[in-house]
Amino acid sequence: MPELSVAPNPAPEEFAYCPHCAAPLITRLVYDKPRRTCPECGYIYFTDPKVGVGVFVVNKGKLLLIQRRVEPQKGKWSVPAGFLDRGEDPKVTAVREALEETNLHVEIEDLIDVYFNPGATGPGASIFILYRARLLGGELHPGDDAADAGFFALDDLPEIAFASARDAIQRLTTIN
Ligand SMILES: [Zn+2]
Repeated sequence: MPELSVAPNPAPEEFAYCPHCAAPLITRLVYDKPRRTCPECGYIYFTDPKVGVGVFVVNKGKLLLIQRRVEPQKGKWSVPAGFLDRGEDPKVTAVREALEETNLHVEIEDLIDVYFNPGATGPGASIFILYRARLLGGELHPGDDAADAGFFALDDLPEIAFASARDAIQRLTTIN
């Protein structure tokens, strides 16, 4: 198990007010953990993880990557990815993010893995779902929060931003 850089806090004090009735939240034990709760309406704030989803697209031996325009890891390269909103099918999100960031149409093939990033706080995803996807078509150009986009030979990749993508690349190049 990787060591936690920040101990998970199930009752962050910065969640000060109830989103339903605006009463000040208090910390109390809910089942086994302290949580921010509303004494007026009973609302309980659960520290749900931030979930990212991405696609791993290899076409003619080359991996599709985007260069990050924003933090974290601005300037480094990663697979097309985005955050999941509540109610979204992660496969739909993955296909849409690929289109937004690269202008390419892809189709999900299978799940590579679900990664846990214990160090993720703030804007980063603590859970990352990575799918293998197949290129359907489209003309490559960067969009959305991608500064650049391109296909790279697996033995000649730029600096990769996230451990999850590095892991997937290593596994894929080891298997094939
Ligand atoms: Zn309330």
